[in-house]
Formats: sequence, structure tokens, C-alpha cells
Amino acid sequence: MKIKTKLTINFTLLVAAILAVASISVYLFSLRYRQYDFYLRLRHKALNTATLLLNIKDISPGLLKIIDETTISTLRDVKVWVLDESKKILYSNTDSASTAQILPAFSYMRWTDSNFRTKDDKVYLCIVYNYNKHKYYVLTTAEDYYGMAELKNLRFILIIVFAISMILTVLAAILNTRQSLQPIKELIRQVDEIKASNLHSRLSMANNKDEIAELAKTFNKMLERLEQAFETERMFVSNASHELRTPVTAIKGQIEVALIKNRPAEEYQRVLRSILDDVNNMSTIINGFLELAEASTEPARIKFEKVRLDELIFAVKDDLARQNKGYNVYVDFEKFPEEEDSITINGNPRLLKIMISNLIDNACKFSPNRKVTVKINYDENTVDLKFIDEGIGIPEDEIKYIFEPLYRTRNSTGQVGSGIGLSIVNRIALLHQAKIEVHSVLNKGTLFHISLPRTASEAKTEVKALIS
Ligand code: ADP
Repeated sequence: MKIKTKLTINFTLLVAAILAVASISVYLFSLRYRQYDFYLRLRHKALNTATLLLNIKDISPGLLKIIDETTISTLRDVKVWVLDESKKILYSNTDSASTAQILPAFSYMRWTDSNFRTKDDKVYLCIVYNYNKHKYYVLTTAEDYYGMAELKNLRFILIIVFAISMILTVLAAILNTRQSLQPIKELIRQVDEIKASNLHSRLSMANNKDEIAELAKTFNKMLERLEQAFETERMFVSNASHELRTPVTAIKGQIEVALIKNRPAEEYQRVLRSILDDVNNMSTIINGFLELAEASTEPARIKFEKVRLDELIFAVKDDLARQNKGYNVYVDFEKFPEEEDSITINGNPRLLKIMISNLIDNACKFSPNRKVTVKINYDENTVDLKFIDEGIGIPEDEIKYIFEPLYRTRNSTGQVGSGIGLSIVNRIALLHQAKIEVHSVLNKGTLFHISLPRTASEAKTEVKALIS
């Protein structure tokens, strides 16, 4: 059953129960009040008759009967008997009755004190009346005709009111339920519209202050997590393909050249060894990206270790030199390390290698002389790397955009590229709590300056920063 129907039925039943209890109470209270009121009037009538009969000497039962009949009273069909102590009738306002006839009707009453009972819409009243040291019984009976008619009328009104109220209640319940569930309907509609292609959408009702808003907020948080996971996956795919393209092209080139003609066995071995190096390089890149992807959802999973940066730079230099014959990579120590610890930092070697490789590759790629100088410097807290080229440079107004995914400057169109590399550099630098500065002069050259803290700790970086 739909919540809407359930709520409507529950609400209607509840109101019906309350209305029924209220109506029955009103009816029962009126009934009781009418009975008591009728008893009082009957008692008044009985005492009146007894007082007239016994207190006023000159009055005869015949006169009293006339008075009785002519008095305007709200009591209908009232019968009064006054009996003496031996239960002999002294007065009766009816003709027929003898004691034998009337006594059975009063047989269930007490004859010791005043009391009454009701039977078949009739009220029977027995009053013990003491006068001049004598005991008298005044018996009265009447039908509460007007009371009963009024009660019947009340019953009819209550039933009509109950029926009309129920119709109104059902209508109100339907309207109220529809209105109350409207935000849920809207929530369902908005959720229904969210697809993988528009995961950035958020539910608008999260700005309100009710329970539905709470639900929408929770849902929005879930969407945020989903979007992050999606983004991570998307970035992983584009990053990985970007990074793997160069070694795959190199492998392809080497195989194609090797296959052009028959070669001596040593030549094939040399090519295979070179391919093996590239494959190893690829596996380093893949592992690095897997770690980076994991880091986007769980930064704590990226493991840091002691890394000698100069060794890393020389390894990258060798890889790139093999893959791109024209590259000239010069490594220069601004201050020569007295001990190897001076240029050792806490970091992830695979990711740092990807970062350095991107910066060297860019510097060579965007320089007509294919030359880059990597300067290494250090102090007690940081190790500084400078990547200096004499290339095309970056327009000043575009420097702030180059770390955004897929961004390429307007003067870079002559070079192949996807605009992914620097966003990876940025993410890896963030993970290592490193600072990056870029200085560039158009057509003169560019300097990327990275300051890596020596004691960076794992999992400091926020997940959000990683996927930006
Ligand atoms: P890609 O190299 O694939 O184009 P990157 O993300 O590595 O993408 O670089 C983004 C953009 O920044 C490049 O397209 C280029 O315009 C600019 N850029 C990066 N490094 C240099 C550099 N050393 N000299 C000049 N421009 C650079």
C-alpha cells in the first residue's frame, strides 16, 4: 500500500475514533442530564401533590385532581398516587387504579426512602413523606416524552454531524497527505534526473530546514562522494593514457625499426633490452597511477619512504633520453650535497618520478633546442628543484591556468600534448606538501621551481584537493 493511502486511512480512522468518542460522550451526558432533570420535575410534582393534599385541610381529592389536570406542566401522562402507611390509596389522579394494580409496577422500589427507577422510557418514583408523625408514600410515574424526543433529535444531529465531518476529514486527509508528500515527490523527481553525465547536480531542497532537507543533504553528500569516485576514475583513465603514450610510441618505433630488415642477434638483444626498459618504465607509471587513484579516495594508502631526488632525476633523464633522442637534460647541483641525506626527502618514489618526468619532458618539448637544466638545491627543511628551459614560454595571463586538467596555452599548439601532465604534477606536489612556482618570459624560457619539504608526512592532503 502506498504511504499516501496509508496516511489518509490512518488519519481518517483517527479522526473518526475521536469524533465517535466525542459524539457518544455528548449523547450519554445529555441522556443522564435529561433523566436527572426529569426526576427532579417528577419529584417536584409528587411533593406538590402531597403537600396540597396533606397540608391544606379544605382541599378534597376531587379538587386536587382538577388542579392537577389544569396545571400546565411539561410532564406528560403523569400519574400520582398518595398512599398512607398501610399502602391504602388516599389520592390518585387517575380513575382506574387500585393498590393491587399499581403496586406491581413499584415492586422493585425501596419503600424505606425516596428512590426512582426507569423502565421502558417511564420513570417510577417513590417518595416517603412524613407529615404529622405519619408516614405517607407518594408514588409517581410518567413518560419522559419530550426528553426522549429531544434525545432522538440529538442522536440524529450527531449522526449527521459525524457523517459530514467524516467526508470533510477524508477530503482534508487526502489534501494534507498530498501536500505533505509533495517534497518527497519532488525529491524523487530530482533524483530521477541525476545520471552519470550530470553527477554534479545537487538536490535543491537541501536548503530548507525540515526532515526532507536532511534527507536531501545526505543524498547530496552521497552524490559528492560518487562524483569524486567518478572523477578519480575518469582522471585515472586520462592520466594513465597520457603517461603511457610516450613509452608505447617508443616501443612501437623500436619494433618497427627492428623489423625493417634482418639483423644480427646482438642487435635484437639490444632492442629487446631497450623495450624491457620501456616496459619497466610503463609498469612504474601504472603502479604510480594506481597509487594516485587510490590516494584520491584514500590518501592514507600512498606510502612514503626515503627518496634520493638526484638518483630519481638521473633515472628519469636516462628514460627520456632513450625515448626521445633529441632531448638534452643537464643536472646541476647549486650546492653540492656533503652527505646523501641532504637531498633525501620523505615521499613516494613512483609518483615523484612521474612528476619530474613530466616537468623535464615539458621543458624539452616546448624548447626549440630541446634542452633543460635541472638545478638541485637544499637547506635544512627543503630540497628545491628548478627546471629551466629556453623555450617558447608561457603567456603571463595563462600561467594561473596551466595546472588545470586539459589546459594548453595558446602558443603551445605546435606541440603534441593533452594538457594533463601539469595537473598530475600539481596533484603529486600537493600530496608531498610541496610548493610550485612558475616564472616565464614569452619566447625566452620558463622556470618551474618546486620546493619539496624533506619530512612530508603521508595523508596530509585533503581528498578534494587531490582530484581538483
Ligand atoms: P601538455 O604538455 O600535454 O600540453 P601539460 O599539462 O604538461 O600538458 O602542460 C599544460 C600546458 O602548459 C602546455 O600545453 C603548455 O602550453 C604549457 N607548458 C607547460 N610546460 C611548459 C614549458 N616548459 N614551457 C612552455 N609552456 C609550457
